[in-house]
Amino acid sequence: METMQINIGKICNLSCKHCHVEAGPNRTESMTQNTMAQCLQVMADYDIKTLDITGGAPELNPNFMWLIQEAAHLRRHVMLRTNLTLLDKPGYNHLPEFFARNRVELVSSLPYYSSKDADRQRGNGVFQNSIDVLRGLNDLGYGQEKSGLKLHLAYNPGGAFLPAPQQAIEADYRRVLTLSNPMCRNQISVSWDGYLYDCDFNQMLGLPFSPRSISKLCLADFQERQICVNNHCYACTAGSGSSCGGTVV
Ligand code: SF4
Ligand code: SF4
Repeated sequence: METMQINIGKICNLSCKHCHVEAGPNRTESMTQNTMAQCLQVMADYDIKTLDITGGAPELNPNFMWLIQEAAHLRRHVMLRTNLTLLDKPGYNHLPEFFARNRVELVSSLPYYSSKDADRQRGNGVFQNSIDVLRGLNDLGYGQEKSGLKLHLAYNPGGAFLPAPQQAIEADYRRVLTLSNPMCRNQISVSWDGYLYDCDFNQMLGLPFSPRSISKLCLADFQERQICVNNHCYACTAGSGSSCGGTVV
């Protein structure tokens, strides 16, 4: 026995079409601290190494943090299944740092990599909310190679059909959500007269970012800037980057 997976409640802030738990805001089932303590005791007695926490939205159980802390004291590895969307809300936005401190492995459901499909399954605005939270988790080290903080994205089929092979889905998620190759991610483009652009294409189209001049460059601002995207970026990103810095396919 390596893993104990516990469902700590069926209450959820979402009501997804694909939910096999039929979780939602109107459910009331919630694991008590006493039952959690019994689970932890069994993990200790039988040296079960991994605690896998699921729900509903586990964050809504009032003893959720206590459970993670106790598991960490027992030196168990904790995995958490989260729908992400609570993690930037008042009362919950301290949790990402708490997860990082306790080395919690996150399995984040994101039904699809397009907002249209994800929102159809989960509700309007959920996709963008999830992306915002994922970015915050990335900033804490989640999903960054050397941090050891693991972050998984879970695909959920939107109907009665099997998902495509994981490798193919993973490649699609990475291609659409990460786009690490376009040169605007790691280059700065300076025009002959000292002005700054995201890339050579944007320079030729006169699409600058601010501050505009090399004499006013602040690297922190540069790294946090919004890249000016336009129709030409479709061609660039379809090949994983531009012909100058990416792949020719
Ligand atoms: S977020 Fe998860 S638990 Fe909540 S309704 Fe959706 S699938 Fe069910
Ligand atoms: S064309 Fe668009 S995606 Fe490609 S490098 Fe320039 S700004 Fe980035």
